[in-house]
Amino acid sequence: MRKQINYINEINRLRKEKNAIILAHYYQTGDIQDIADFIGDSLALSQKAAENDADIILFAGVKFMAETAKILAPDKKVLLPDMNAGCSLADSCRAEDFEKFIRENPGRTIITYVNTTAEIKALSDICCTSSNAVDIVNSLPNEEKIIFAPDRNLGNYVQKITGRDIVVWNGTCHVHEEFSIESIIKLKTQHPEAKVIVHPECELPVRMVADFIGSTSALLQFVKNDKSVTYIVATEPGIIYQMKKGEPEKSFIPAPPKDSTCGCSECNFMKLITIEKIYNCLRSEKPEIIIDDNIIKEGLKPIKRMLDISGKKGK
Ligand code: SF4
Repeated sequence: MRKQINYINEINRLRKEKNAIILAHYYQTGDIQDIADFIGDSLALSQKAAENDADIILFAGVKFMAETAKILAPDKKVLLPDMNAGCSLADSCRAEDFEKFIRENPGRTIITYVNTTAEIKALSDICCTSSNAVDIVNSLPNEEKIIFAPDRNLGNYVQKITGRDIVVWNGTCHVHEEFSIESIIKLKTQHPEAKVIVHPECELPVRMVADFIGSTSALLQFVKNDKSVTYIVATEPGIIYQMKKGEPEKSFIPAPPKDSTCGCSECNFMKLITIEKIYNCLRSEKPEIIIDDNIIKEGLKPIKRMLDISGKKGK
């Protein structure tokens, strides 16, 4: 009979033996969030990747996040339990198309969301996350013209808040585009006391009914400090696990997707990571993120610029 593996015990043993840490994004399932050494949004995870003394970083998230960790910590081994854990937003901005876009819009500072491939980062001046996008734009002189990529919803949101001259790349995240404004309004009618909290990657109609718009960490902070007891949450529902943990007496209703027959508000890429794959990955130290040295060198500059600006802002 095959011996049953206790994955959690084995993961704990392996990470100690190999001096490895597990970084997990808020969109991972609850069981993975529970075993992570650190849970966070893209910004916090980048900061953590840059400042830890582990030999191995196992990234429970998607590929662009693991690539960011590798760029920030090139001497460490960075592992991603499933290389198919991609991102529709990162895929919507291919390097050859983006180079053409830059040529068509010369003289602009290139700000890219971290949800991009390492090649796109290497073409950028500054990176940003949804936590710091407004601060990054505001850190530049008023007359500086900007290209913002790849998320058009976040780009338009930042443009509206800052009033700056921004040309926005036409990319989207398939998860945040899927929320149904009709269903959110219906839910709001059923729960008039509920606050609608929305990620800035959502489309304009959804942002327009929001009581609060913010990054995943900003949404978490908001429900912690706010006095309401019910929230309609328009972002990937993995975040609700931490919201419930932090505020067990409050209610969180996931905003429904346009197609009610599917779980399209869940990121299928994020959910490719499982406890079993984490165990196998830690054990075999594969698959490993490998990036060309020159891309690492060029990709580091915009990420460092972002971290420097965020550090000065105390984020
Ligand atoms: S939720 Fe959207 S932006 Fe985030 S990893 Fe999934 S596809 Fe990419």
